[in-house]
Amino acid sequence: MTSSPTSAPASAALLERASSVIPGGVNSPVRAFRAVGGTPRFIREAQGPWLTDVDGRRYVDLLCSWGPMILGHAHPDVLAAVRSAADKGFSFGTPSENEVLLAEEIVNRIAPLEQVRLVSSGTEATMSAVRLARGVTGRAVIVKFAGCYHGHVDALLAAAGSGVATLALPDSAGVPAEMTADTIVLPYNDIAALEAVFAARGHEIAAVITEAAAGNMGVVPPAPGFTAALRRITREHGALLISDEVMTGFRCGRAGWFGLEGEAGYAGGAPDLFTFGKVMGGGFPAAAFGGTAEVMSHLAPLGPVYQAGTLSGNPVATAAGLATLKGCTDELYPRLEATAHAIADAASAALSGEGVAHTVQWAGSMFSIFFRDQPVTNYDDAREQDTAAYGRFFHSMLDAGVHLPPSAFEAWFVSGSHDEEAIGVVLDALPAAARAAAQ
Ligand code: PLP
Repeated sequence: MTSSPTSAPASAALLERASSVIPGGVNSPVRAFRAVGGTPRFIREAQGPWLTDVDGRRYVDLLCSWGPMILGHAHPDVLAAVRSAADKGFSFGTPSENEVLLAEEIVNRIAPLEQVRLVSSGTEATMSAVRLARGVTGRAVIVKFAGCYHGHVDALLAAAGSGVATLALPDSAGVPAEMTADTIVLPYNDIAALEAVFAARGHEIAAVITEAAAGNMGVVPPAPGFTAALRRITREHGALLISDEVMTGFRCGRAGWFGLEGEAGYAGGAPDLFTFGKVMGGGFPAAAFGGTAEVMSHLAPLGPVYQAGTLSGNPVATAAGLATLKGCTDELYPRLEATAHAIADAASAALSGEGVAHTVQWAGSMFSIFFRDQPVTNYDDAREQDTAAYGRFFHSMLDAGVHLPPSAFEAWFVSGSHDEEAIGVVLDALPAAARAAAQ
């Protein structure tokens, strides 16, 4: 399943050096390839849909920095905006115009949103949204769903997806039981479980936080009616609904998952709070949480809920985010979906050809291929897949010049820069990868 380290000698050498000064040699655990084995590629540069590693090998990028690089790497418009902003200074610690422009761009895209507060990571956004919900309601309990990942917030590191799922950790050490004592974890897509918890403890619950469409146990969209039930039940009990759109925001459509129509969407009413990150930072550290002006008025300096950040609204990050969102036009999304379908359909055909059990699941242009033949509706289902087959598939693709997410519990991402050449490299790599998965 693992590739020999000699197939990437410069990456292997850097990993060894990194490992003496950085735990595990990486600054975010899934990057270490522990779930798929082998040597993580140290990337030297990236352009459009291509990554180039320190050994000089090129890969088609289906990771897109875990979501942000929706226009492709080093997009000329974003690069120009970043250069122009950086020319004028890196951080002021005062209000600045770019923050206003980015906040306006976000608020204008999502009708119920009136105000956002800018922060530097998705983790900060969800942490702050939870604090705000607790401050607004005067209640402590938070409901989350197993397999959903909301960043490494102590209270939300319970049955979390993403790296916690990849590494098969039950939870994180270093999170005292008191920190998750007010966190209730329910199965995703289970309305009956939600009803039961609210019937018993509704008056204690400050908020339900959910990934708008789950992407951190692999892609698991909400079942028809689930999102509407979340809205109805929270409203009945005076709890807030926090829609975490850090991954789906501006990725599934120009107004994120919220903007999509249909039974899996927000026909039942808007959430009280949204969180955003990834795409809205264009590859730089910028994220946000927001809601109505009334809810947001509870935040300092207007209200008693404290929240702050030295680099919040950083002028270079906000310039990158704004230029990226300007490129997120109505025309972009059908193109992303066409690219994603070309890849997923070919992958599915290749796997079927080799008799490999699999299921493809979608949220906009985000998709995952689960190596099991049944649909995945929750975290238990996701864990039933053949992760070893994914590892073999992953390494065959990597050897052929395609960089997939190094875990079976993650979404695949495409960008507006994935052209025919890049898609062709992916399609050419698939038959051998399907054979490897079948072994
Ligand atoms: N929420 C969701 C849905 C995410 O996917 C992530 C990151 O993957 C986060 C929150 C945390 O964001 P960050 O890694 O920027 O802290």
